[in-house]
Amino acid sequence: MGKRGRTPTQAPKPGEPVPDLLPDRPTIDRVRDVAAGCKACDLYKRGTQTVFGEGPKRAEIMLVGEQPGDAEDLAGHPFVGPAGKLLDRALEEAGIDRRVVYVTNVVKHFKWEPRGKRRIHAKPNAGEISACRPWLETEIALVKPRVLVCMGATAAQALLGKTFKVSKQHGTFVESSLAPLVTATVHPSSVLRAPDEKARRDEMRRLVADLKKVAAAHSSARE
Ligand code: SF4
Repeated sequence: MGKRGRTPTQAPKPGEPVPDLLPDRPTIDRVRDVAAGCKACDLYKRGTQTVFGEGPKRAEIMLVGEQPGDAEDLAGHPFVGPAGKLLDRALEEAGIDRRVVYVTNVVKHFKWEPRGKRRIHAKPNAGEISACRPWLETEIALVKPRVLVCMGATAAQALLGKTFKVSKQHGTFVESSLAPLVTATVHPSSVLRAPDEKARRDEMRRLVADLKKVAAAHSSARE
């Protein structure tokens, strides 16, 4: 998988593409170690650290978001900030134990813009998404989830195609070579960003309802 002649101890160079960094006999732990030094796109200059996916090595459900947020960037773990806490609640309401779920993002560095003293989320562009995508593809290939759930438009469009509309197609299962069951739902941060209490409740209901479909599909696939 890795570039011939590249030794595993060599530090990645700025601009060195992800496929050239992948170890020849990849495991999640080896891949995570290499990704920690990734400089394939310029986002490594802005984020504190690579935030790689986490969860059981053979998790049956994989949740994919857009990118780490401010809290995740500082902690080095995915979905540990406010959106992660909301996701925990939604998973619990849907009857899914987060400890059996692998959580990750399409882009592994936090992209942000300064606003006063705060770091405000900035959307990753197509070049950054495509530079980072091989890390996610490797996670999917190694974890082999039975159910893959894209959360939000960035993840859904990166994995299911540009024409996928989360607003219309969330909660439906689509044909994909990525996993036996593939679907999409809203990103937990969209609940947090909703303009008022009613919109927040509606968005949370949508997230929980979609996750309940994931729980049902997952348990019927096991029977
Ligand atoms: S965002 Fe992805 S491709 Fe870009 S430097 Fe970080 S890990 Fe590498």
